[in-house]
Amino acid sequence: MTCIFCRIVAGEAPARIVLADEHVLAFHDIRPAAPVHVLVVPRAHVASLWELDDRRLAGHLLFAASEVARLCGLERGFRVIANARHDGGQEVDHLHLHVLGGKRLGRMLAPL
Ligand code: 5GP
Ligand code: ZN
Repeated sequence: MTCIFCRIVAGEAPARIVLADEHVLAFHDIRPAAPVHVLVVPRAHVASLWELDDRRLAGHLLFAASEVARLCGLERGFRVIANARHDGGQEVDHLHLHVLGGKRLGRMLAPL
């Protein structure tokens, strides 16, 4: 198995797990971009949001992101990001939501 997030889901690669249920796994990002930086991934391999065809799984992922925010004490605020495919800057081709918080996050969207 070459997909690193599949390997983490299978317990074959280490990760600091935050939350686990039958559909999703959440673990700390290895190179955090904020004091709290957690990745939420489906247990099943889906390459990106482009390939996602399961509405229930979409709901599980987003709900898990909200659970991660509560578990990590992000009541002051947080951001959820999904990079998709080349132009979206996706580096790991297993769908994941980034949950970022623990500091005031800078503006991400600027006018063209
Ligand atoms: P992307 O750019 O695909 O949206 O984000 C991929 C994220 O996965 C990056 O923030 C990167 O630091 C993280 N990452 C890559 N490899 C590993 C790993 O082996 N373990 C963990 N915990 N995070 C990883
Ligand atoms: Zn995978």
